[in-house]
Amino acid sequence: MKKTLLLQDGTSISYEIRVKPVKNLNLHLENDGTVWVSANQRHLEKEIEEFVCSKTGWITRHLAGIKMRTPPTRYFSEEALAETVRLYCDKLFPYYETKGISYPKIKFRKMTSQWGNCRPKQGILTFNKNLCFVSKECVWYVVCHEWTHFLVPNHSEAFYRELEKICADYQEIRKQLKGVYIQ
Ligand SMILES: [Zn+2]
Repeated sequence: MKKTLLLQDGTSISYEIRVKPVKNLNLHLENDGTVWVSANQRHLEKEIEEFVCSKTGWITRHLAGIKMRTPPTRYFSEEALAETVRLYCDKLFPYYETKGISYPKIKFRKMTSQWGNCRPKQGILTFNKNLCFVSKECVWYVVCHEWTHFLVPNHSEAFYRELEKICADYQEIRKQLKGVYIQ
């Protein structure tokens, strides 16, 4: 039986209950990140939930450790990423051209704290080479995000209203991107 425990910080822990001839509740964590509890017939769901609740600190720490150790999935070679980013920029350009924006210089480099960067005055967009490790949807989001900075330099409400015009599901994609760990 699969269960999900919602935590106060908005994240959640999914776990499975496996009924086994055990005396006490036991928590198990597999290398793939699966969390399960062995319980016997007598244990009530509520009891199991309380048990998992009491172990959230430990679970969260260990899951974070596993995520760090798992090599990230590669979606693009560096060449393929550069080509995709350029195609996306070409797709967006006509809209921005009507707003008086010139086609920017596009750069790529490894960055640790951001997926992309826009310097509106210099007309430069820089993209993180680590985008090779995220899906096409995420790359599209980052490209849209950086182009939007040509119109709104900050992350105000106006920025997100503008971003939504070209990337309607940006909230969903942004969540995906937040779950990606790059060393
Ligand atoms: Zn931004």
